[in-house]
Amino acid sequence: MILLPCPWCGPRVASEFAHIGEVCARPDPGSATPAQWRGYLYLCANPCGWTTETWYHRMGCRRYIKVERHTETNEVRSATAAGMAEVPGTAGGMVEAPGGEAGTRAGGAEIPAGGSAR
Ligand SMILES: [Zn+2]
Repeated sequence: MILLPCPWCGPRVASEFAHIGEVCARPDPGSATPAQWRGYLYLCANPCGWTTETWYHRMGCRRYIKVERHTETNEVRSATAAGMAEVPGTAGGMVEAPGGEAGTRAGGAEIPAGGSAR
């Protein structure tokens, strides 16, 4: 059982969430080639180890969270609101990151409510 610590709801089982995907940099729309868009939309690194993912709390607060999770052990070492950055040393305090998560896939406002990146 995977427990994900939602910043608003607290620890919840992963079945309450929708897995949106890995967080990766969005190519520049003005200069990206079709191959770069294809890679951004359909290919993922799928590492055996630590990765940063976006999850949607569909059966809870209906918000997106960014989770650092180990794909082999399912250990979670951080969870923040998507589009927000955790402030070091504030024990869970969060502030909005400069520029938000613009340029990342599944980064908060880029996905319509109830939608999916895939
Ligand atoms: Zn929640």
